[in-house]
Amino acid sequence: MNDPEQFGGSGANPFVLRNGLVLSMDPRVGDFETADVLVQDGRIQAVGPQLTSDAPSLDCAGRIILPGFVNSHHHMFQTALRGYWADALSDDYFSQSRQGDKAFFHVYTPEDIYWGQYAGALEQISSGTTTVVDTSQCTETPEHTDAAADALIASGLRCVYAYSPRAHGSRAHPSYAYPADVDRLRDTYFSSDDQLVTLALGSPVDEQNWRLARERDLTMFSHVNDEATGLQLEKLSGLGLTGPWNTYIHCTGLAESTWRTIARTGGHVSLSNLVEQTLCTGLPGMQPALDHGIQPSFSTDAVSLGPTDLFTQMRAAYALQRSRRQERAIAGEPVHSDPLTTRDILRMATIEGARAAHLDHRVGSLTPGKQADILVLNALALNAAPVNHAAGAVVMLMDTSNVETVIIGGRVVKHAGRLVRVNVPAVVKALQRSVDGILSRSAAPRVLFTSCRA
Ligand SMILES: [Zn+2]
Repeated sequence: MNDPEQFGGSGANPFVLRNGLVLSMDPRVGDFETADVLVQDGRIQAVGPQLTSDAPSLDCAGRIILPGFVNSHHHMFQTALRGYWADALSDDYFSQSRQGDKAFFHVYTPEDIYWGQYAGALEQISSGTTTVVDTSQCTETPEHTDAAADALIASGLRCVYAYSPRAHGSRAHPSYAYPADVDRLRDTYFSSDDQLVTLALGSPVDEQNWRLARERDLTMFSHVNDEATGLQLEKLSGLGLTGPWNTYIHCTGLAESTWRTIARTGGHVSLSNLVEQTLCTGLPGMQPALDHGIQPSFSTDAVSLGPTDLFTQMRAAYALQRSRRQERAIAGEPVHSDPLTTRDILRMATIEGARAAHLDHRVGSLTPGKQADILVLNALALNAAPVNHAAGAVVMLMDTSNVETVIIGGRVVKHAGRLVRVNVPAVVKALQRSVDGILSRSAAPRVLFTSCRA
């Protein structure tokens, strides 16, 4: 019974989500213990109790309705390598993934890219994430890049495709075309900003690429993983190249002056709290961001390293901020912010994510006029009922098993707990074929019962 046709949820037809507990994440709209959400023409038309509409409806009693999560940095092409680097430290990951002609990222075919991106996008939808920034990499040839774009468009996910350089460490293919190929990509795939998948540029902190992004009015996503990279960022800021169009990923180990530069120029921050801790790349920038008045967004990084659902990220961030803050207070160090609440965390997973993706005018809250990107969570499940605290239930108690219905741009893409019109076993089969090929071409060992660590 997962056919959304039953309540008209397959496109432009209006429908109403009835009788749910609504967390709009927009203070002007507010929260409701019981309310309805009217969707029409792909947008949210109204939010409130007992809306008058004769459109077909989906009964959401016992459900929590909220905006879809936003994942502000992911590398979906790596999906076939799921969990390979679960034991890795930063050096293991960077050397095994890219050092040498046979390193993983250099033996990917366009078909591997397609299935990685496609399966990764479906996984995001299934876990309640409706918008993802795909800082793609593995752009070895234009065919690789096209495969990534094709897969994202086919998936139904809202995505910012941040066209990024290949991972260095081997000789580039003669047809490698970053960043010049960005114009062809825009003309071929991303001519409108109204579509579900839109274009941005990904780049390290690099003057030439950052100028190119400014010239083309593209937003910029950059990994900033250490102090030296942060200082380089400050230099580019001196050239007028930093602003609200920048999103900085990880922000580990940054100098105070770099944090001040990011805050002063209105930059956005994307923190992968779990992976930053497990890879030991440095303490996540959660507390420094807050200390500088920056509201961070959450991201998962690649599924080769860890889980890519936002429930995990929310809990990792919540635990980290509270424990670190307390540690500081006990040590008598200055503490500039309060312990976060679960509502703060939920805000970072939704509207702050939308800001970091530069899409907050379109998504991130249940605001009439915005795109209908909506998440319906089952609160009658044993891990959630009874709901005594709505934000707490989502952030501390729920997981992907509670994701019942997902709507993107007014189209129901998951319903009754299952993706709509997706052949999951066929996708899993394609992923297995892909990883078998990648492993055989890379000559890397399987790590089923061992560790990737040397
Ligand atoms: Zn990354």
